[in-house]
Amino acid sequence: MAEKLHLTVKCHACGSILKGTAKYGKGSYSPEGLDFSFSAIGRIKEEGKKSKVKGEVSIICPNCTVRNKYII
Ligand SMILES: [Zn+2]
Repeated sequence: MAEKLHLTVKCHACGSILKGTAKYGKGSYSPEGLDFSFSAIGRIKEEGKKSKVKGEVSIICPNCTVRNKYII
């Protein structure tokens, strides 16, 4: 099953809070809120913790239609 990444970001242009999920990996996935597109760069391992996914997400703001990009 695909991993679901929960995201909360702020639109660069209008300042709206954008909340949603992005899909990482293959398999079934049902978005919650906005459906961000995600491209993975890699994984970060922190000692004693679960590895975190690193990548770039993009979303078109539903408020002002500006495309926002974030590194997570
Ligand atoms: Zn916006």
